[in-house]
Amino acid sequence: MTKKQTAAPKKQSKPLSHRHTPGQGHCMDLLRQLSAYIDDELPSDICREIRTHLGACPNCEVFIASLRQTVTLCRHRPVPPLKSSDRVSMRRAILDAAKA
Ligand SMILES: [Zn+2]
Repeated sequence: MTKKQTAAPKKQSKPLSHRHTPGQGHCMDLLRQLSAYIDDELPSDICREIRTHLGACPNCEVFIASLRQTVTLCRHRPVPPLKSSDRVSMRRAILDAAKA
């Protein structure tokens, strides 16, 4: 017999520090790093922190899902790779849009 015990802790020790003020604080810290996160450009400890937040924050989870989908769609387009300066300015534009 197999015990179906998945590693999904049911809100045992949820940190009280996880506040959610839309567009501010923890979410915004993460949003700043999300594009680097989906490009696998972040150190693993930060990735883990982001994953933890995503598991607890539906807003960010939806956001990253759509961002990831957008990136995937873009990657399937036969376009030349972006210059790093373009990347930086697009990243900034996305963050500005997220702030609005
Ligand atoms: Zn969040």
